[in-house]
This record gives sequence, C-alpha cells and structure tokens, in this order.
Amino acid sequence: MALRATAVGKPRRVPVVQHLPGVGQNLQDHPGFGCVWEYEQPLAPRNTGCEATYFWKSDPALDTPDLQTGQGEFPFSSAETAARFDLPEFGWALLAGVVRPKSRGHISLTGPDPTDPVQIQANMLSHPDDLKAAITAVQLCREIGNSAALRPFAKREAMPGNLTGAELERFIRDAASTYWHQSCTAKMGHDAMSVVDGTLKVSGIEHLRIADGSIMPRVTTGNTMAPASSSANAQPSFSRPSTHSDIAQQGIRMAGRGSDQHLTGRDCGLNGEQSLDRAA
Ligand SMILES: Cc1cc2nc3c(=O)[nH]c(=O)nc-3n(C[C@H](O)[C@H](O)[C@H](O)COP(=O)(O)OP(=O)(O)OC[C@H]3O[C@@H](n4cnc5c(N)ncnc54)[C@H](O)[C@@H]3O)c2cc1C
Repeated sequence: MALRATAVGKPRRVPVVQHLPGVGQNLQDHPGFGCVWEYEQPLAPRNTGCEATYFWKSDPALDTPDLQTGQGEFPFSSAETAARFDLPEFGWALLAGVVRPKSRGHISLTGPDPTDPVQIQANMLSHPDDLKAAITAVQLCREIGNSAALRPFAKREAMPGNLTGAELERFIRDAASTYWHQSCTAKMGHDAMSVVDGTLKVSGIEHLRIADGSIMPRVTTGNTMAPASSSANAQPSFSRPSTHSDIAQQGIRMAGRGSDQHLTGRDCGLNGEQSLDRAA
C-alpha cells in the first residue's frame, strides 16, 4: 500500500507516476479453520502454544501437499463459530489450513491521505477448489482429533462435529481465518500485472526495490516469514545481513533437510527468472 500511497499503481485516487495495475492485486493468504476439542484435564499452553504441524495432500495425485494443520493448545475459533458452538474454556485446536490457495484478493486505498485506511478484500474460498480442499482438511482434522491416540486428551469434540454438505460448508466459511501469511500484492514477474522484476526493481521506477512478502508470485506452501526475509538476502547489494535474515536462512536449511515440499528459495521465486516463470 505504500506503493499505492506514493502514486505507483492504478490511476485512481492519487496522481500516478507509473501505471502498474498489479499493485495491490494478487493478494494471497493461507486460510485456516479451527476445529476444537475440550481437554480431559485443563492444561495451560506451553512454549509457543503451537508445537506440532503436518502437511498433507487433499488429493494423492497432487505434486505437493496443499494442506497444513497446526495444533494449538487453546480453543481457536472465529467470532462466528464462537457464537454458534459451545466452546470450552480449556481446549485444544487443530487449525486446518489450505496452503496452495487458488483464490485471489486485493487491497486498495480508500482515499488520498496516507492515514486513510486501506480496504482489504481477502476473497478467501472464492475459488471452488479451495472449498474442496478445506473440506478435506477439516475431515482429516476430525479423523485425527477423534482418533484413539488422542482420546485421553479429549473430553469431547466441541466443533465442528459430524457435519456434512451445506452445514459443513457453512462451518468452513464461518471458521475461515487468516494464517497471517498475507503476501503477493507486488508480484515479481514479466507479465502486465507484475510489479517488480527478477532483481526486485519496481518496473519503470529507478532506484526503487521491494524486498518483502509482497514480491512472491504465489504464496509459499509453508510459513512465510523465512521466504519474506530471504527476498532481501537475494539482493545483498541493497540489504544488510540481519539477525532476522540469519534466522530465515537457518529456517530454509532446516526445511530443506526435513521435507521436500516447502520453504525452498526456489519456492519463493529466488532462483532467478526460470523458476519465477514456473511459479507465476
Ligand atoms: C500474528 C502473526 C504470526 C505469524 N507467525 C508466523 C510464523 O510462526 N512463522 C512464519 O513463518 N510466519 C509467521 N507470520 C508471518 C510473517 O510474520 C510474515 O509473513 C512476514 O513478517 C512478512 O514480512 P514482510 O517483510 O513482508 O512484512 P512485515 O514483517 O509486516 O514488515 C512490514 C514492515 O513495514 C513497516 N511499514 C508498514 N507500513 C509502512 C509505511 N507506510 N512506512 C514505513 N514502514 C511501514 C511495518 O512497520 C513493518 O516493519 C506471522 C504473522 C503474524 C501477523
């Protein structure tokens, strides 16, 4: 939005110095859906409160996982689901996530003043495939959460329960929350909707580069902090190494050892133009 506010983007509310219609478009995030169980014995959250995760495929034919679930040691809900379900004071959650979303949102200015609020249109689940993947993600959470192995920790399943059809879809739409991975609104690439090129330079503007989560053509399958930080590492000539970057590099190395599906430099378009074209 800083780009929009400084007159780079669509010709709308401020005088335009460079027409880049892609600014603020292509908004992506990982939607998450909280499924909750009541603790058999109340337990306080430990450490980060979210110590376990898994990646899975909604369809075995997929090349890479498109689902991620994080286990939360608290009863995670949305305002809508909290109002509809009998949630426990002490509970744990499986936050089902769709991590290869096809839905696209956008952000826009509401006025010319830098302090005017921005409008965020997340458009979560606007693509039917995302809803399909979300249904599988929630069903998988229920299968795991209600399994014999977890029974000692669960007095009852608080939500969603055994919903099907329209009721399950309503739960999913009500439960949809952000995984806090908003990104991709100044995407790297060569098409008309791209904002930066392979060197992170803003098209048509001298001496202006972007190095953050907005430059990803599509959101990474895994969490976004390390890839976002790595965008700065990819251009050492204009960014200084920092503790944040060091952590990011370590995260990428660890992910590379542990799995084949996420958090590679190539995944966030950092391997040059070729991988970028593939991702865009
Ligand atoms: C609650 C939460 C939990 C998260 N948990 C994880 C996690 O566990 N793992 C993970 O990988 N990712 C996590 N993320 C996501 C991760 O933090 C982001 O993907 C990452 O920080 C994005 O980096 P960025 O540089 O694009 O943006 P940011 O880190 O948001 O940096 C943007 C910077 O721009 C500054 N700024 C904004 N507007 C202006 C302006 N007009 N002028 C000047 N400066 C401005 C802001 O102050 C900020 O410092 C989480 C995010 C949230 C919100």
